[in-house]
Amino acid sequence: MATDRLGPWPHLGYAGFQLGRASERRAQTPEFLRDPAARACLIAGETVVLARHGEGLDAFFDVAHAGALGGRLGEACLLGFDGAVPHFVLPLHAASAGELTERSDLLLTDLRSIAVEGLVPPDQVGELACAKALLSWHARRTFCSNCGERLEVGEGGWRRECPNCAAQHFPRTDPVVIMLTVDGDNCLLGRSPRFKPGVWSCLAGFVEPGETFEDAARRETREEAGIGTGAARYLASQPWPFPMSVMIGFHLEAASRDIVIDEVELEGARWFSRAEVAAMMADRHPEGLTIPPPMAIAHHLIRAFVEGRDPPTG
Ligand SMILES: [Zn+2]
Repeated sequence: MATDRLGPWPHLGYAGFQLGRASERRAQTPEFLRDPAARACLIAGETVVLARHGEGLDAFFDVAHAGALGGRLGEACLLGFDGAVPHFVLPLHAASAGELTERSDLLLTDLRSIAVEGLVPPDQVGELACAKALLSWHARRTFCSNCGERLEVGEGGWRRECPNCAAQHFPRTDPVVIMLTVDGDNCLLGRSPRFKPGVWSCLAGFVEPGETFEDAARRETREEAGIGTGAARYLASQPWPFPMSVMIGFHLEAASRDIVIDEVELEGARWFSRAEVAAMMADRHPEGLTIPPPMAIAHHLIRAFVEGRDPPTG
């Protein structure tokens, strides 16, 4: 459960990672992989394999079982330790995943569905988020960006090393700002063409080189909606493994009202009153408009506005 000065954020998805990362022990990964108590999750691209135990679901398997299901032991990444028990992610070929779809003891699904539907406990959702982001990085960093040589993997999957030029490459996390602009009793929401029908949410965008998070939040709001903003107040952050980002959430103070949307990024942006957003949040808006589910940080930025909880400044 993620917490901050505003109190608990029990439904914030992907934020429940509880393992000890033990970064100083990652070089011993081959040894930990032989631990009979070791556990592993299985991911193939966007697909996660869950084990059915009666009515319940579990994202982790004994390592031997995960290997028998097609997990590639030679590419295991060490996620961390639950007490003394090492947890890994094993990548799975899409073809192997395809062979598992008919099995009644397994459920193959995607990480978004797992988080939205709460299919496994929050700590496992957090581990899967770490696992998916790490594998996404490996999938994109096969060759050295310095000299082009094929890279070797070290430190339990937390480093790639070039045998030719000795460059070291580390998993990257791309910062994305996500912000709710507030003007008194109104807030600015937008609609991306990628959203499900009726869903309105916060604006968001990638941080650029040389930019503070606050500046990025103000720039994106100006670029996407034409709205000038002043003070930025940080609320919370959320790992966002699509493919490997972290969302940094703000409330912004509006300095202008007239909206001019970037039609490439948005199909709509408008001001909503606190009462209207409250109705959207409670799924009782007369036009059926809604906001993202509680697993998304956008929900919490909007909820904080609806509930009049101004975050602390500074
Ligand atoms: Zn190189």
